[in-house]
Amino acid sequence: MKVAILGGGQLARMLSMAAHRLGVEPWIVDPKPDAPAAAVARHVLGALDDPASTRAIEGCDVVTAELDHAPAAVMEGIADRVPVRPGPRAFAIAGDRLREKELFRSLGIPTAPFAAVDAPSDMPRALAATGLPAVLKTRQQGYDGKGQCSVESAAAAEEAFTRLGGVPALLEARVPFDRELSILAVRGLDGEVRFWSPVENHHEGGILRRSRPLDRALRRALGGAGRQASRALLETLDYVGVLTVEFFEVKGRLLANEMACRVHNSGHWTEEGAVTSQFENHLRAILGLPLGGTTTLGPTAMLNLIGALPPRDALARLPGARIHLYGKAAAPGRKLGHLTLRARSKDALERALDLAELALATS
Ligand code: AMP
Repeated sequence: MKVAILGGGQLARMLSMAAHRLGVEPWIVDPKPDAPAAAVARHVLGALDDPASTRAIEGCDVVTAELDHAPAAVMEGIADRVPVRPGPRAFAIAGDRLREKELFRSLGIPTAPFAAVDAPSDMPRALAATGLPAVLKTRQQGYDGKGQCSVESAAAAEEAFTRLGGVPALLEARVPFDRELSILAVRGLDGEVRFWSPVENHHEGGILRRSRPLDRALRRALGGAGRQASRALLETLDYVGVLTVEFFEVKGRLLANEMACRVHNSGHWTEEGAVTSQFENHLRAILGLPLGGTTTLGPTAMLNLIGALPPRDALARLPGARIHLYGKAAAPGRKLGHLTLRARSKDALERALDLAELALATS
């Protein structure tokens, strides 16, 4: 069997490695010759919207994507010839922050107050809906904190609209959250849904830095609402594959921030910390295979390596850390790899995380 992945970044690389383990041949479509997944997959070198690229993957059994902004129109074109999973509609919605929040609202999933801003004249009405402080985000093409501006005043909001390029945007109330967490779920072709244990996420400069298991009491208190929201999305979208929903927790209440129609950085821990990884279960789902177990094997955390890599021997000296490097050139803010840490207890995991942080800071 062959699976085609739109995009050839680190997510495609890890999906490809999982595909090899299942005896499935991975193909990627990416315009960059040095795409991280090119080392482990058949590489169709070309733009996603180039008909020659999509023709090249027509012989695959299923097409999926690893991109934040998979072009829904391209995916619709492919879907006439090869099954695309998850379907183009999910990508079209997740790629537009306004449509995404409207879908949450229509399903009764709580969010921060929000309003569309298509032109500066929309700002007073939007500010009346959100209040201040707020966050202005472009509707499309935003990720890792890019395409968004925090605003403290009406004048700053108008200025931010210009700074973001004057493109259609979404104004959201700035949430004084207690923590951020994500719910990772997978839905099979037969509609079966499985969830991994929720994780708490720490961002630095809008980029995910660490994921660790959500505290047991919070898991009990919040897990139900998170799973219910995720299940509603999976079912309404008739979704197949891994879906990640990111939430803010404010005083015991969950507000949905966004969803990602793909495997996700906050699910990397599942490679070592769960019976079946997000990568394998995504493939199982889109290939119509039974899903694997999602039970946690023990306390597991993930630490991203961003911007610059410590020497490999410094990483290799970290006790218990599993090393994942993506083969990318260093650049500020770029995700170059991650470490997974597993421990016998939550306290031991915290100690291992502190040790790893210290070693990274001093190497
Ligand atoms: P996003 O691209 O929407 O995932 O935003 C990236 C990060 O910015 C989030 O993980 C939060 O840390 C922060 N952020 C985004 N939206 C808000 C908001 N409405 N209130 C507070 N923080 C936010």
